[in-house]
Amino acid sequence: MSVDVVVVGGGPVGLASAIEARLAGLTVTLIEPRESSIDKACGEGLMPGALPLLERLGIDPPGMPLRGVSYLAPGRRAEYRFARGTGRGVRRVALHDALSARADQLGVERVVGRVDGFTQDSTGVTVNGIRAGWMFAADGLHSTVRVAAGLDRPRGGARRYGLRQHFFVAPWSELIEVHWAAHAEVYVTPVAEDTVGVAILGPQRTDFAETVRGIPELSSKLEGAAPASSLRGAGPFRQRSRRPSAGRLLLVGDASGYVDAITGEGLRLGLDQARLAVQHVTDGLDYDRAWARSTRDFRRLTSGLVWAATGPLRSAIVPAAAALPRVYGAVVERLAR
Ligand SMILES: Cc1cc2nc3c(=O)[nH]c(=O)nc-3n(C[C@H](O)[C@H](O)[C@H](O)COP(=O)(O)OP(=O)(O)OC[C@H]3O[C@@H](n4cnc5c(N)ncnc54)[C@H](O)[C@@H]3O)c2cc1C
Repeated sequence: MSVDVVVVGGGPVGLASAIEARLAGLTVTLIEPRESSIDKACGEGLMPGALPLLERLGIDPPGMPLRGVSYLAPGRRAEYRFARGTGRGVRRVALHDALSARADQLGVERVVGRVDGFTQDSTGVTVNGIRAGWMFAADGLHSTVRVAAGLDRPRGGARRYGLRQHFFVAPWSELIEVHWAAHAEVYVTPVAEDTVGVAILGPQRTDFAETVRGIPELSSKLEGAAPASSLRGAGPFRQRSRRPSAGRLLLVGDASGYVDAITGEGLRLGLDQARLAVQHVTDGLDYDRAWARSTRDFRRLTSGLVWAATGPLRSAIVPAAAALPRVYGAVVERLAR
């Protein structure tokens, strides 16, 4: 069996890569171990810049409009509304189902399996018995392919993790709310008329219920709300690659490196990388350069915010955002596009 592209990993970025490749007329096989809808821990906020990227794939997933981001700490609030367009809060399963249906419609071939290694030569790659001209590895934060290719780079900095759970309660805001607790950030994202997602980012062993209880403004809104999903976690966030490509292998999405979920951008960047990877195959685009350009703001601004959030400046972040609304707005805008 020989195809133009083999995609490893059927999360949102793997599916988007497969769809992009099919739209460009390439034959595609996608390898993913899980057979049902994947409900990965995520804040589920699609920034405004992510929606046109989904639209070009022919996807319009159901969700709730997101009109901006507010930062909250006791007695302080900074609020920014997106200057152009809206984002969308979308349940991961809804996003997965929409991408999956589109991939099937376009004839993406599926193989159920896990990839543990691969070989490549000057004309292509061989993985799990499949021969392909190119391989896109979208196997997530702890990418096996990144490690197998020798592209993994030791990570430094704070080790941060994420937790998330959903609750049946009518959303009370069209902004993503970020509550800055003493040790963790708590994101509230509306995802359906009767459901909000709560994602907590912080150090290992952060206790979900205790953290929410410590924020009276939030716990009063969630009081009595039934859980709409089970608690899930992910991390550590920070993962690095030496380069995002090696020969006929391109790393896309979290597999190519990730900083932190603090700026809610993984999906927008991953969708953009899917587009760039296909352009590399069809038009010879320099993927490493394009990847660096696409992720530059994320790497710089997100690393800066994580640095501030994990050091002595933490308690100054919300007051500074409230005192300098233009700066706060400019940073949100830059990351949202
Ligand atoms: C708590 C939290 C909150 C977040 N909030 C947001 C947010 O609000 N907005 C946003 O845009 N992003 C957010 N993110 C980031 C976002 O979830 C990721 O960037 C996104 O899931 C990346 O998609 P992906 O397809 O690259 O990887 P994944 O979604 O991790 O998918 C990887 C896929 O690869 C498969 N796989 C793994 N290993 C193998 C293997 N060896 N062989 C074959 N397949 C394999 C897995 O089964 C999985 O399906 C958040 C992340 C976390 C943890």
